[in-house]
Amino acid sequence: MHLSSTFIAGLLLASAEGVLGGSRFWEAKAPNKRTNPSPDYAAIETLNATSRLVKRAISIENRADDNSVSRIWPNKKIKYCFEDKDENTNVIIRGLWKQARDLWAPLIRHGFSYEEVSDSVCESQRSTVLRIHYNDKGRLASTLGIPNIDEAANEADPENAIVGPYTHLSDTEGIGQDDIAANVAHELGHVWGLLHEHQNPYYWRVSPSDSANGWSFPSVKGATTRFQTSGFNCQSLKDHDTAHASVRTKIATAIADGNRPLQVQLETDLSRLCISQVVAGKHKFSAAEWLPLPNTVHLVADDQFDPDSLMMYPSGAGGTGSGDGRAQVMVYENNDPIPNRLAPSGMDVDRLITLYGTPASSTTGEPYTSKSSKVRSGFKKARSMLFRAGDTKAGLC
Ligand SMILES: [Zn+2]
Repeated sequence: MHLSSTFIAGLLLASAEGVLGGSRFWEAKAPNKRTNPSPDYAAIETLNATSRLVKRAISIENRADDNSVSRIWPNKKIKYCFEDKDENTNVIIRGLWKQARDLWAPLIRHGFSYEEVSDSVCESQRSTVLRIHYNDKGRLASTLGIPNIDEAANEADPENAIVGPYTHLSDTEGIGQDDIAANVAHELGHVWGLLHEHQNPYYWRVSPSDSANGWSFPSVKGATTRFQTSGFNCQSLKDHDTAHASVRTKIATAIADGNRPLQVQLETDLSRLCISQVVAGKHKFSAAEWLPLPNTVHLVADDQFDPDSLMMYPSGAGGTGSGDGRAQVMVYENNDPIPNRLAPSGMDVDRLITLYGTPASSTTGEPYTSKSSKVRSGFKKARSMLFRAGDTKAGLC
């Protein structure tokens, strides 16, 4: 495979980002950072904390036949194949995949399963078969559930085209949860449909010292928060300086080209790299893995915080340094560090069981009818206000 310089740069960046154990695809493909990154959203989702909408987890929704967003795996089964045919790395990747599955073993008795498919099926069913990739560069990245295929977005950004579900697993030590098995299991959590627990905006609040700094994310009146904006130390991220330098270079180019509108937009972006999940994602800055989501449209957000979730980053994830010596990127609201975790929590398992519980299949028919349809229809409206067609490339918007 020919490696363009852009692709290599992407790999290096992914390596820095990979320390997050993150789901690269979705923040990079989050709503419309390609065309209109700023202002990226309005905090219109102010919900009553007792709303039935906020009842479980933060995951994708169970949307039976909707191919326009990420969807769950039909019949609770992940069909997969391995990308890497090299004998040595194939042994490694199979081992990592097994470690990931073993940590999610409690799902098995609830009917969750996995099936390796042949190369021909892997090719012919590219959009619905998980491709498992190995790397030793610390890259950990996965699509959420079965992603939607957005041809227009793929054409506009071929380097990051998404043509089906994938996961990149790595056995690099000292990154993410500082545990290889936990890192690959975290990725499998994304593949089943879970998002980062710490990015649920309802657990965040704007610190008084940041009230004029342009932070904006939805909140729930009276909710118990866990994180505050002043607890996010953006400059501790490994790629903080390179991400900022990259935007400055783009600004210089825009100025040299006499492209004033682009210059203005990029200058706004530069000022929001550390406070906007969408802007960070647009510029492939790993802060996108930490910052609160701009909305929870098409997601199911829990009103119960899960401090043990495998889907939450520990304080050091993505920080400069390695292992225990990593700089703290974020701490709890009360300044306590967020510890590493080793396995899915009971709530992690529970939320997947709930997500996949009804119906069991995501292909055969019956649209999911939520009891909270009233609120959901309100969200539909909100969605149309916030996003334009084609912006939801990877199904998370
Ligand atoms: Zn992640």
